[in-house]
Amino acid sequence: MKVTRRQFLKVTGATVASFAVIDLGFDMTATASEVQGMRTKGVKPLPTICPFCGAGCGLVVFSKEGAPADGPQLLSVQGDPDNPINRGGACSKGSALMNIREIYSPETGEQEINPERRTKPLFREGGTTKWVEKDWDWMFEEIANRFKQTRDEYFEHKDENGIIVNRCEALASMGGAALDNEELQLIAKLSRALGMTYIEHQARI
Ligand code: SF4
Repeated sequence: MKVTRRQFLKVTGATVASFAVIDLGFDMTATASEVQGMRTKGVKPLPTICPFCGAGCGLVVFSKEGAPADGPQLLSVQGDPDNPINRGGACSKGSALMNIREIYSPETGEQEINPERRTKPLFREGGTTKWVEKDWDWMFEEIANRFKQTRDEYFEHKDENGIIVNRCEALASMGGAALDNEELQLIAKLSRALGMTYIEHQARI
């Protein structure tokens, strides 16, 4: 095997340094494992699915155990090596997932809650351009009322030829990448039970 001068110096330098530390009577094994323990102490990994696109990559969110719920607590988001879809990889969007909740402030250099993060639904009345913040109860009530009103008004039991169709073509269901298979199965069942014919989803691969 051909060894370059640079490789030779690197190997002999590292070896000499190791012998020097061992010669002084230090046992580095315990120190190395302690450092490893300190780096991961109090860190909670949470496997999840990236909500951004139909690839459905698996991610692991690392957070600080015991951090206050209303303060910065995320450490990093990485591709999940155990997920068969992406095997540990993640594109720039998935890798930046933690910025939805937390960012590093350019002013202070500190990690803080993203001020752009939406925690309440926004409602825009038809014909207006202004978004108004509403609470969840108001929003659910409004959605349910409009849903029922539309279905009552447009549900067809029979078509113009007298054939039973039991459909409502005025409603449609559109899924997003943040939904998982089980949620989608329930949404599809509910949609069909209500007579919807336009059921679409940005399906995972
Ligand atoms: S990590 Fe990238 S490729 Fe994977 S699901 Fe998210 S956005 Fe799509």
